[in-house]
Amino acid sequence: MARETILVVEDEAEIQELLRYNLAKEGYRVCLASSGEQALMAAQSESPQLVLLDLMLPGMDGLEVCRMLRRGRQTQSIPIVMLTAKGGEADIVAGLELGADDYVTKPFSPRVLLARIRAVLRRAADAAAEEAESECLCRHELQIHPGRHEVLVGEESVELTSTEFRVLWALARRPGWVLTRRQISEVVHGMDYPVADRSVDVQIVALRRKLLDAGRLIETVRGVGYRFKE
Ligand code: CA
Repeated sequence: MARETILVVEDEAEIQELLRYNLAKEGYRVCLASSGEQALMAAQSESPQLVLLDLMLPGMDGLEVCRMLRRGRQTQSIPIVMLTAKGGEADIVAGLELGADDYVTKPFSPRVLLARIRAVLRRAADAAAEEAESECLCRHELQIHPGRHEVLVGEESVELTSTEFRVLWALARRPGWVLTRRQISEVVHGMDYPVADRSVDVQIVALRRKLLDAGRLIETVRGVGYRFKE
């Protein structure tokens, strides 16, 4: 049974209760916040393992909460799953760029939401464990050696440009995590580079082509960005 603490940030009482009920049933400890201000206080005092954050809040909105959580020394690495309105791609992109880890669109099925939460908690644990080693990433049939700047698909060595390598590394480090084009561009060029979405897309096309069959591992998330297959 799960024992992690999840902070639920949602102002609508009915949805808050639905979330609380489903999470508690799954064995999570649940803290509730009805506003951004409460959320920031609870994130400090309760040290949750995950924040489930509705973006539509009165007063300080969810994106601002996300930004503040990422700024706080104590809260910067707590995984955040956003609850967003259907069709809210602009909010999703903004939230991911502020450091949210994943999102679920409303109306949501509790089963899908719980699966997403489990996945984010597991990825956070895996990422922490892997950060320690990071000599070689093995994903499906791919082996990526950052030290040697080498990529193998099965037994075959693949020649990548340094840009393509950095794009692949950024995605493959965190399978299942969606990166926006801006985030990919930052990995490749640094923070101040003007983002041209097209140039990221061009890199992805080239990368997929060179990876042959393994190119399928780089998935397009329509309207948002790219992710490496889990
Ligand atoms: Ca709301």
